[in-house]
Amino acid sequence: MKIISGKPVAEHIRAEVTDKLYGVEAMLGRKPKLAILRAGNEAADLSYERSAIKTIEQCGMEAESVSFPREVSDSVFSRSFHMLNEDANVDGILLMRPFPPQINDGFITSCIDYRKDIDGVSPINAASLYMGMDTLTPCTAQAVIEILRYYKINIRGKHAVILGRSKVVGKPLSMLLLNEDATVTICHSQTEDLKKITKKADILISCVGKPRFINSEYIKKGCVVIDVGINIDENGKICGDVDFDDCAEKARAITPVPGGVGAVTSAVLAKNLIKAANKDLL
Ligand code: NAP
Repeated sequence: MKIISGKPVAEHIRAEVTDKLYGVEAMLGRKPKLAILRAGNEAADLSYERSAIKTIEQCGMEAESVSFPREVSDSVFSRSFHMLNEDANVDGILLMRPFPPQINDGFITSCIDYRKDIDGVSPINAASLYMGMDTLTPCTAQAVIEILRYYKINIRGKHAVILGRSKVVGKPLSMLLLNEDATVTICHSQTEDLKKITKKADILISCVGKPRFINSEYIKKGCVVIDVGINIDENGKICGDVDFDDCAEKARAITPVPGGVGAVTSAVLAKNLIKAANKDLL
């Protein structure tokens, strides 16, 4: 079994971004800039925001956090969003979702300038992904593809089984894998006889959000296991959806948590920011 760490993948992506920066900076006459829009102080949001800002700055770009208390009104939040959306000095917007209930998520995600939408949430970018066109894709889903590519894991013709159908991970990942010529099965909470399906996977990707939900009974020998889950276990420790120790023997390759997909997600954010700043989608 091989442990497929996210660290070298993230380093490789950051190096790609840094290579492109000189030309993009010369074109813009300034550094590319990310704005992060947040309502509330959820620990997971703050942790992701810190990691995103650190990565963007490591790559030589700028990041700004625009934050509001959780009780912020929809009108105040939307006004701030529109200012960022119109601001010619902002190249990418990261929305910390889910928003509190008073914020109109559908309105904001449908209004975001698709050229600044570096987490691929707008209907335009979702449709482009569906059409197999070049677009800004959701960072976590893209991170899975970057890991498979970096470790030269063959996707074409392989049976990829995804556990989870969320708009941020499972669904976009299914499109990305399909665009890479995988045969894709998506499972969810209503799927019957889950083990029977997961045991057929050449590549199993879990994005369920349940600590150590997948054990060795769910995988076939030689399977590649990608664990997207970031969960807190009964001892307060971070763990994935996959029981790493139990699956390690049977799997051909497996990502750890922490240090797997999560380590790559913010590097993909930087890659998407430089793509947005370079006006690749104009
Ligand atoms: P989510 O919106 O809660 O979606 C979970 C999905 O899992 C749903 O589609 C759900 O099915 C499915 N599911 C739940 N129980 C199941 C079961 N028993 N069998 C099969 N499928 C089941 O979660 P998410 O936002 O996609 O996130 C998933 C995990 O990824 C979380 O642990 C999150 O923290 C992590 N995450 C990691 C990163 C990263 O950078 N590594 C980024 C984002 C999220 P239904 O649709 O039927 O409810």
